[in-house]
Amino acid sequence: MSTLYLTHPACLDHETPLGHPECAERLRAVERALEQEKFALLLREQAPLGSREAIHRVHPERYVEAIEQATPRSGIVHIDGDTALSRGSFEAALRGVGAAVRATDEVMAGRVGNAFCATRPPGHHAERAQAMGFCLFNNVAIAARHARTAHGAGRVAIVDWDVHHGNGTQDIFWSDPDVLYCSTHEMPLYPGTGAMSEQGEHDTIVNVPLPAGTNSRSFREAFDFAILPRLEAFKADLIIISAGFDAHWRDPLANLNLTEADFAWATLRLMAIADSQCKGRIVSMLEGGYDLDALAKSTAGHVEALMGM
Ligand SMILES: [Zn+2]
Repeated sequence: MSTLYLTHPACLDHETPLGHPECAERLRAVERALEQEKFALLLREQAPLGSREAIHRVHPERYVEAIEQATPRSGIVHIDGDTALSRGSFEAALRGVGAAVRATDEVMAGRVGNAFCATRPPGHHAERAQAMGFCLFNNVAIAARHARTAHGAGRVAIVDWDVHHGNGTQDIFWSDPDVLYCSTHEMPLYPGTGAMSEQGEHDTIVNVPLPAGTNSRSFREAFDFAILPRLEAFKADLIIISAGFDAHWRDPLANLNLTEADFAWATLRLMAIADSQCKGRIVSMLEGGYDLDALAKSTAGHVEALMGM
């Protein structure tokens, strides 16, 4: 079964201030990495525009309108110290949603084995009604709700290995018994949430905070012992990955010491569970990753694993 790769040039038009780590160069680095010959068999598609209907399953109408109205005709406006909007930001964010929904459609229908979406801005810090941490719409949350509503998925699991805690995803699914949210992240670090004691109303939030300096071996142990058993017990119909690559040792925003091989390893672990429980169904969405070389190599390893290479 093939791997679908979704992206869109409009995601390059989300401009952030000069020197901002979340920049268009990130996506160009991913694109270049996936242009290598070994990725010739990737099924490539441009991300469609996401529908309001899909977004409103997660974010209230008023919030979406406020983001649209705040989008400037020129220049850059700040939502907060980290999160900015430029002329192209709203369309870029809609392409992220469109990629999430299209990937979910194709994977749930069995037309592809799994999918990777490279879009920006990222999504996992976006709460129900609050943009933050470079994020506007929570793409993985929208994919999860779409799988449940449009495809009848009973349960969906989201695994988030971005070095930052996905406070937005946790906020959205805090009271939802049918979505499991598992996160490994550095702590203490932005945004400050993600303590092990944060477990959700139905014990479906699994937080595995890691101290600065955590290496490959400790990360893999934490993943094997704290995340995978919960995932196995949950028996999801779809696994969604918040694939941030900023836990890489080269990343300038954090201090974990993972390598590109760790992300490929984690991908294979999740694929083994997906194979045994939900016909291999995985939708992976790019989140963070701010060292361009580490991002390119980590993404390449992740996608190679998804393709079964
Ligand atoms: Zn991050």
